[in-house]
Amino acid sequence: MIKVHEIKRSIDEDESILLNRLAKKLNIKKEDIISYEIIKESIDARKKPDIYLVYELAVSLKNEEEFLKKHKDYQEYIKPECIFNITGDIKIKRPVIVGSGPAGLFAAYLLAELGYKPIVIERGEPVEERIKTVNKFWETGKLNTNSNVQFGEGGAGTFSDGKLNTMVKDSIRQRKVFETFVEHGGDANILYKNKPHIGTDKLVNIISSMRNKIISLGGEYLFNTQLTDLIIKDNKLVGVQVNNSEVINTDICILAIGHSARDTFYMLNKYLEMTSKPFAVGLRIMHPQVEINKAQYGIEESKILGNADYKLTHQCKNGKGVYTFCMCPGGYVVNASSEENRLAVNGMSNHDRNSGIANSAVVVQVSKEDYGDNLFDGLEFQRKLEEKAYKIGNGNIPISLYEDYKNNSVSKEFKTIKPEIKGQFSFANLNEIFPDNINESLKEGIESFGNKIPIFNDGDSILAGVEPRTSSPIHINRDDNLESNIKGLYPCGEGAGYAGGITSAAIDGIRVVESIISRYTYK
Ligand SMILES: Cc1cc2nc3c(=O)[nH]c(=O)nc-3n(C[C@H](O)[C@H](O)[C@H](O)COP(=O)(O)OP(=O)(O)OC[C@H]3O[C@@H](n4cnc5c(N)ncnc54)[C@H](O)[C@@H]3O)c2cc1C
Repeated sequence: MIKVHEIKRSIDEDESILLNRLAKKLNIKKEDIISYEIIKESIDARKKPDIYLVYELAVSLKNEEEFLKKHKDYQEYIKPECIFNITGDIKIKRPVIVGSGPAGLFAAYLLAELGYKPIVIERGEPVEERIKTVNKFWETGKLNTNSNVQFGEGGAGTFSDGKLNTMVKDSIRQRKVFETFVEHGGDANILYKNKPHIGTDKLVNIISSMRNKIISLGGEYLFNTQLTDLIIKDNKLVGVQVNNSEVINTDICILAIGHSARDTFYMLNKYLEMTSKPFAVGLRIMHPQVEINKAQYGIEESKILGNADYKLTHQCKNGKGVYTFCMCPGGYVVNASSEENRLAVNGMSNHDRNSGIANSAVVVQVSKEDYGDNLFDGLEFQRKLEEKAYKIGNGNIPISLYEDYKNNSVSKEFKTIKPEIKGQFSFANLNEIFPDNINESLKEGIESFGNKIPIFNDGDSILAGVEPRTSSPIHINRDDNLESNIKGLYPCGEGAGYAGGITSAAIDGIRVVESIISRYTYK
């Protein structure tokens, strides 16, 4: 197959036009094209409302060798493929994986595929039970601190938009992640869309299907099972303690606990080298999705394009950076709390992204200057913001119209926009959550985003607080083998500071397994 770039079609043209465009571009007859495969599809909206889909294609030709000899500017297409070789020679007991979020799930999946029989321990419930618990929490406010939007099978990204784009450039491992999602029920188009997304409703089935495959290969899951201590001898891991009692003997443990396992971070501090790391905090903002579509595409809706997203940044006068984060087209703001008397929000969408409301977090970077120098100062800063949010909302998600947040007052009623929120909510003065410099930065950011998307700073837009968990406040050190200062213990994924989303966490899970299998052999 040969690789062909820059084949375009307008959104009003049928996909069949691609064959004609290919033949024209390659200067050959249509009949000489055996087949083609889409490698990448992106959207060109620079001349909106005239919008184009731009393709990179892998094309199979009747006389390919001859064509490539004649046309040196075209190259053969080599499909990215992940091949894993077990080269290690050390006998190990069954590896234990703590956490079944994307990092732990992909580590377990790969270990199971390669013949290791991993034991996955997860403090929360299996995804089928977890869905019921989370829905009950959204309806009644009754929180299960071990099984919620952050904790439980599938990890933090289970109730999410399922955006899969990542800043990590690792096309081979990324392909492994996406192919695995497709094998377990994800849309095949995630293999080539520029901004692939899955959606909560599809993710839950993918997660349980992956679990079933791991179990069918000899892996084991222990739910409602929390890592509570490590058993270490001579600086080497020999076992893990769970639920404050039972010990599982192992000499390999992948620690994929996510950014919300605050109690576990405190326990790990007895043994591991850790540092604090900066993150960002802010509020979710809701707008009508059609207004976002008009601003981004120049049209209210398009089946082919789906609902539009955005990514906005602003440098404040006070030196702080403000940006939008985790935008959920046609989504919901969700109560994503995991600790009693503390409240955190986040966003999710279903596969069809059709709630009618767009939401994203508007967040401002914070660092030691904002919260202090000690290891857990950032984590405790997050907790304090969550306590304030809980208090001002009387246990519900505190919300406000943007104009009232700007004017330091409490809203009385919604105006032109009705919110889409999973969880109970109450009007409150959101200024009370943050120190003044953060409120100023958020307001300056929202005003500046109004220059890019006109609806953005509309006074009727609805804000919800607080979003303090944009990334982990902790970094767990690891060496070139991705191992911590304790032999056999591998910090992994977002909680350890090595990922910032579903795909990058999954990729990190794969990288850690590669490091293990190149030095240890399972017997
Ligand atoms: C509502 C929401 C929406 C999001 N939307 C997106 C999105 O659209 N796209 C995207 O890329 N990212 C999104 N994210 C972020 C993404 O989910 C995370 O980056 C990703 O899940 C991190 O993966 P992880 O495996 O490192 O950790 P996690 O997914 O956090 O998984 C950690 C797991 O460890 C378990 N655990 C913790 N402590 C223990 C313990 N002591 N013992 C046993 N188990 C333990 C937890 O229960 C959890 O299941 C979203 C997050 C949330 C909360």
